[in-house]
Formats: sequence, C-alpha cells, structure tokens
Amino acid sequence: MLPKQVIRRINTICSAYFWHGSPETAKGAKVAWDSLSVPKQKGGLGLRNLLSWNDTCGLKLIWLLYFRAGSIWVAWMRNKYLSHSTFWALNEKNYRFSWMLRKLLKLRSKAYYFLKIKIGNGDDTFFWWDPWTPFGPLIHYFGTNGPTLLGIPLFSTVKDQTTSTGWNLSPARSEKQTLLYAYITTINLSLSSDKAVWMIDEVTQRSFCSRNVWNKIRDPKPLVPWYQLVWHKARIPKHAFTVWLFILNRNPTLDRLVRWGCDVEKTCLLCGEEEESRDHLFFQCSYSAGIWKNIVAILTPLVAPSHWESTIIWLNSASLSKDTFLALLQAWHACIYEVWSERNRRYHSGKTLPPSSVYRNVLNACTNRAQSLVLHNPDRLSLLRCWESH
Ligand SMILES: [Zn+2]
Repeated sequence: MLPKQVIRRINTICSAYFWHGSPETAKGAKVAWDSLSVPKQKGGLGLRNLLSWNDTCGLKLIWLLYFRAGSIWVAWMRNKYLSHSTFWALNEKNYRFSWMLRKLLKLRSKAYYFLKIKIGNGDDTFFWWDPWTPFGPLIHYFGTNGPTLLGIPLFSTVKDQTTSTGWNLSPARSEKQTLLYAYITTINLSLSSDKAVWMIDEVTQRSFCSRNVWNKIRDPKPLVPWYQLVWHKARIPKHAFTVWLFILNRNPTLDRLVRWGCDVEKTCLLCGEEEESRDHLFFQCSYSAGIWKNIVAILTPLVAPSHWESTIIWLNSASLSKDTFLALLQAWHACIYEVWSERNRRYHSGKTLPPSSVYRNVLNACTNRAQSLVLHNPDRLSLLRCWESH
C-alpha cells in the first residue's frame, strides 16, 4: 500500500510520460489521467487506476486478517490490536495505531461489501460492530442511540442476546428494529463458531481474487455505445487512439483552439471554405467527404452519412457481414487518421496532398493491416478480400 500523495505523484509522472514521452512536464494532457484508467468499454483506455488498485491491496490485507490465521503478520496484528476489540470498533483517528492499520480501518466502508459474519453460536461476534446482518454494522444502521434504544450494551456479543430457546430481544419500537428482527429470526443459531465469509455479489469466494474485488470497487460508469467501433479486432493502434480522441473531441481542432483563446484563423485548411471542427472534418468537408464516400463504396452500396453523430449511429447499426463490418471500421479509422494527418501536414509544414493521395494512403493502410492479420490468422482472409481487388 502506498500513501495517496505518492500515488498522485506517480500518476502525474505517468501522465507526462504518456502524453509527452518525458516524465518532466505534466501540462497539455488531452484527457485526464483518471479518465484514461476507466475500462475501454466505458470510454477510457483501460489503464490501471493506482488509487483503486491500492485500495484493492488494502482489502487483501483485511482478507488476510480473517482468512490467513497462520501468517506472522496476522498473528502480530491480532495480538497487538485485536485482542481486546474487534477490527470494526477501532478508531481510525487513533494516532497510536500504525499508519498501515489506520489505512485499513479507513477501508472498512469498502470491506463491508465483501466481508460477512455467518452466525453459529454468536459468541465471537459483536452485536453492534461486526458485519453480520445485511444492514452492515448495526452501530451505523441505528446510530449512536442504538444501544440505548434496544437496551443492548455497546460491546455485547450476539450470543448475549440469545437464550437456550432462541433470541432474547426487546419489543420492536421502530421500522428499523422491525426490519432487523425480521432478518434475525431467519438465522439458525447452532453450536458451531461464527465464521467469516468473503462474498462478491452474494457468492462466497474461496480465495481473494484481486481482479474481481478491483472491478467491484472501481467507479461505476456506464458502458459507452461506441466501444466496439474503436477497439475492434482489425484496428491499427495509432488509428484507434486518434479515433478515440476524436470521439471524446479532445484533439486541437481550430474551433477548440479559438475557444481556448488562441488567436488563429478558424477556416478549414483542407477546403478553405468553412470553419474547422471535428464534425466538419469528418466528413462534411468537401475535401474529406469524397475520400470517405469512395472508400465506403468499395465495401458496400449503402450510403454513409456525412455527419459525425449520424456516422456513429450508422456504423453501430449497419447490417453487413462480419468481415465487411470490420473492413468498414478499418476504413473509418484510416480516413480519420489520414485526413487529420493531412490537416496537420498543412498546419505545420504547409505541404499539401491531393484527396486522391490521401485516399490511396487509406487504402494501403487497410490492406497492409489485413495482410498482417492473415499471417497470424488465416480466418481473416475474407477481410483481406474486401480490400484486395482495389
Ligand atoms: Zn473543410
């Protein structure tokens, strides 16, 4: 486990390296580092988020406390901190505790999701503190008035509330109490000891699976509808990355530069007619529209829309064979990449290529990629055939 400040510093260095190839300058990131560490299906690049990964490592230590009694560290922790109290009752602001223990105590709100106590005879479980009901620790569920309200002392065990014939509880006087009692009466008390279980989505886990735990504690984000359009099987990484940035609209098109306060001419460098923006470049611009239209015509008689949003909807719903669809996505990526390269060529060096050359570059990129895929997987031959006759 690492301190948060260290994680922040590492993230800054990684971000600088990712965007500039050097760890020195963190400025100018097109997409925030936190957004990159979102899974690809949810719009990011699937990089590992150190903060939530760090929490996962902390949860593993909590898991060890309960499920690895043979470990020296566990024996030491139990002896030093847990011989007189339960883990769930310790004060996380007690600075006599080690840094590591305080970090673990702060993770309890996440650990409640995974760790449950199955009641046997109730002897080892603290009524108010341990997570033995679906309501979490009852001291949080009822608040600090709980012990007075229910007439149960703060450090009572669950067994203290039972008799040889069953439960011994005061009559319910609130909705919360009624709900708790309704749950408690479903528990079958036995002679065996209470047992900790580690659960994910109500399924008991035999071991600690970092990936599953990590997936559960990461920020919940909705799936993005364009995931398969960007990260398809025949993609060229630099093309996919450019498309991903354009989907998020994070490339420095002239309309965005003007919005940031840059004093630049907004006219499109390709057609010289309209203002440059993502939606204009792909493919409302008279320069790029022809390239896109001609490439699509190789693959399908369907007419592709020229508006950005409509193109995404059209690609998602185009009814084509699997390989033609892959080829179409390749074409879309390559058009965006090559048109953007041509725009940058004009912007930075003033050199220009006619649309026919850019069209040729798009075709070559798609064909070369399909050829290299066939070398590894002969099943991709039908993808290559989409391109070969041209
Ligand atoms: Zn234009």
